[in-house]
Amino acid sequence: MHIVHIAVEMAPIAKVGGLGDVVTSLSRAVQDLNHNVNIILPKYDCLNLSHVKDLHYQKSYSWGGTEIKVWFGKVEGLSVYFLEPQNGFVWTGCVYGCKNDAERFGFFCHAALEFLHQGGLQPDIIHCHDWSSAPVAWLFKDHYMHYGLSKTRVVFTIHNLEFGAHFIGKAMAYADKATTVSHTYSKEVAGNPAVAPHLHKFHGILNGIDLDIWDPYNDKFIPVPYTSENVVEGKRAAKEALQQRLGLKKSDHPLVGIITRLTHQKGIHLIKHAIWNTLKRNGQVVLLGSAPDPRIQNDFVNLANQLHSSHSDQARLCLTYDEPLSHLIYAGADFILVPSIFEPCGLTQLTAMRYGSIPVVRKTGGDFMILYSMLTMIKLELKHKVLNPTDLTSMELMVLESIMPSIGLSLLGMMVGTGLTHCARG
Ligand code: ADP
Repeated sequence: MHIVHIAVEMAPIAKVGGLGDVVTSLSRAVQDLNHNVNIILPKYDCLNLSHVKDLHYQKSYSWGGTEIKVWFGKVEGLSVYFLEPQNGFVWTGCVYGCKNDAERFGFFCHAALEFLHQGGLQPDIIHCHDWSSAPVAWLFKDHYMHYGLSKTRVVFTIHNLEFGAHFIGKAMAYADKATTVSHTYSKEVAGNPAVAPHLHKFHGILNGIDLDIWDPYNDKFIPVPYTSENVVEGKRAAKEALQQRLGLKKSDHPLVGIITRLTHQKGIHLIKHAIWNTLKRNGQVVLLGSAPDPRIQNDFVNLANQLHSSHSDQARLCLTYDEPLSHLIYAGADFILVPSIFEPCGLTQLTAMRYGSIPVVRKTGGDFMILYSMLTMIKLELKHKVLNPTDLTSMELMVLESIMPSIGLSLLGMMVGTGLTHCARG
């Protein structure tokens, strides 16, 4: 089959969150099954071009009075078309946050369909994602389907209904199939007016992570490659590298990592609470996050300054987006905190498990975040490295106990509750 994703995010070249991860990992997984997969992406001026192989100009076409340049390159082994309209306003800035986001993404969706149409490409499936490429669904059904693309079917995926429910409702109506990123989220949103009329074609399919991209044995951002065989040595080296890079004290005390968009969805009040409780008990904290809302960003800048004077060798808040640093934190942390208020799926806790860090999460999200994290660990054959929870050091237990009450559920409680009485750790 020929599958074309029309998306505004793609890891690692234009990623804001999980949507970008999934566009890449899903495409790679489907390509591995011998299907032909292409991705059409805006050519932002902030693309991380070091990850694009053989980028070259391919051709131009004209639509809506605008010349659109088409570039082609390979990203993580995937064939990507980059569209660069010459109308000046569209692709400055990275992904979201421009005042005209709806206008420029609407333009992009239309330009992408026009690219397929003018190029005579007739994919079996066009896959669009969230509000930002939702217009593909109705533009296609209202127009392009009748002009040479009649065999093509449209799949629409909801990654987060929080954003642009109006656009999402319209795409749900037009798509042939609609999916969301976990079974539990499909149930949670079933009553939403954007979703409810379309339940007959709506499916929850749990996200996964790409085990090649997130692989502590093949990760250029961490100092010592590791598998379950040398997980202790690998994580110790990563922790030291992280402490050194961020100017923290070299210490064996537990280190809590937080990698997140700083929004209310992610439980920022719980994060703050956990930071102070961890520090009180001599743990270390590294937070990597950025806030789309300037008020929240300012709030965290103030907290960062405060911590810099009171706990400079124990805590570091990196208020930016930094893919390489995220890898080092996943590897170097003992715990990864994910106290989301709601979570359509959540990839962070899965990646934490892949790197042998214990996720500390709320009981919400994709088919119970923790349960899946535990199953992932077992799948990753860390089984023979398991420790009974009672083997955690008293320092680690203290940090866990101080965080848990504030986020409502304990990892250990969950394990006991599910009969999984062991936990893997580095
Ligand atoms: P969401 O899509 O709601 O942001 P997910 O857990 O599904 O949440 O995916 C978040 C992804 O973005 C993860 O891969 C995480 O590592 C990454 N991420 C989040 N914030 C940052 C950041 N500041 N720097 C680097 N990576 C980040």
